[in-house]
Amino acid sequence: MGIFRTLTSNLTVIRLSSVRNNKIIMARRLHASRTDGVDKNVWVEFTKLAADYKAVNLGQGFPDFSPPKFVQDAFCNAVSGGFQMHQYTRAFGHPPLVKNMAKFFSRIVGHEIDPFEDILVTVGAYQALFSAFQALIDEGDEVIIVEPFFDCYQPMVKMAGGKAVYVPLRPKADGAILSSGDWVLNPKELESKITPSTKAIVINTPNNPLGKVYKTEELQMIADLCIKHDMLCISDEVYEWLTYDGAKHVKIASLPGMWERTITVGSGGKTFSATGWKVGWAIGAGHIIKHMKTIHQNTVYHCATAAQEAVAQGFEREYEVFGTPESYFLQLPAMLYHKRNKLAACLQSVGLQPIMPEGGYFMIADISSVKVDLNDKRTEGESYDFRFVKWLTKEKGLATIPVSAFYSPEHSKEFDKYIRFCFVKEDSTLDAAGDILRKWSQAQ
Ligand code: PMP
Ligand code: GLN
Repeated sequence: MGIFRTLTSNLTVIRLSSVRNNKIIMARRLHASRTDGVDKNVWVEFTKLAADYKAVNLGQGFPDFSPPKFVQDAFCNAVSGGFQMHQYTRAFGHPPLVKNMAKFFSRIVGHEIDPFEDILVTVGAYQALFSAFQALIDEGDEVIIVEPFFDCYQPMVKMAGGKAVYVPLRPKADGAILSSGDWVLNPKELESKITPSTKAIVINTPNNPLGKVYKTEELQMIADLCIKHDMLCISDEVYEWLTYDGAKHVKIASLPGMWERTITVGSGGKTFSATGWKVGWAIGAGHIIKHMKTIHQNTVYHCATAAQEAVAQGFEREYEVFGTPESYFLQLPAMLYHKRNKLAACLQSVGLQPIMPEGGYFMIADISSVKVDLNDKRTEGESYDFRFVKWLTKEKGLATIPVSAFYSPEHSKEFDKYIRFCFVKEDSTLDAAGDILRKWSQAQ
């Protein structure tokens, strides 16, 4: 009977499916509805465009220089360090890595971090975010996302069954907007978005793409709302070491009452200029992290052992030299400070008004004063900044990223006159971009 039923059901499948042009045509819908509307991806599209046109690439955020020698050496030593470095390690994080991270971050958060309970090592910050949403967001839960936001938060909330609710950082009404610090949250507007279904708020400091570094008072306001309305906070801090002009990165998890309800997300890729290693993490109270471990063990299980070993050694070294001029966590922002200023001067010299970032490695600039003929039929119907960036890449050979990609459909129209430049690049790359902009401006 069992065999008979299996046979007939297989026959049904064969009858109802057909293969045309190498595509299976099913009688029922092929794709799961969680993939609806999230199939377009700004990184996939614009990284390909930059490569196709061999453009000078100030688009995707990755350094075009090598990581510091001490982590490169650590990686090489790991690779030749015996069979174990090539095999599975502990699922939730290679023991030397979680131990070194616990030691390192305990003194920063001001809380004794348990290496085995309070840390989950992930495949980049991406997977830490994914595990957080999958583990903590249920069908119908609302998640507040502060705009502009790193684009993957929205699809991740949707794929978990939740609903994204947006609140924008707005330029202060008074005076010229020169710095990312002039973009602020309105506490009343933020509180008005909270409902009994609100489960969490996502913040990103230093922010991608704006470069805003939240001040303690701003974080305290968010923390007070989290505690008052019993919400979680997912704090994406992948650019935590990159601050300028005296701006100080503060961890919301270090504010009173927030350790218990915050998931802090970090990235070895951003921390040690090795984005291709894809070592990331989530740090938080064990009672939260344990649910993320459930997602992790049933999805990727663990990430590359040798890369984790190298990051472990990176943290060990940084622990020893913390606060001294030897520290990469001081050297990288010092180097980027000059690159930021170089890019800003270049943009200003061609009449583009940048918003000076206090952190991170991106700078956004207002393109509303630039006159170009965007009459390209192929991009008709797309938002202004998307068309502009495509034009700049194809016609001038300079790749950037449209800023409306960091906004919800509700608000993207208000912010479609900015483009994002990445400055974690060799000076020669920044100079090449400068040459393109200058030539273009002189020709006008
Ligand atoms: N969050 C932000 C704000 C980012 O800019 C990025 C891109 N690096 C990520 C998360 C993902 O980081 P990772 O490459 O470590 O997955
Ligand atoms: N985080 C990087 C950026 O913002 C790259 C992300 C990606 O390529 N997926 O540019």
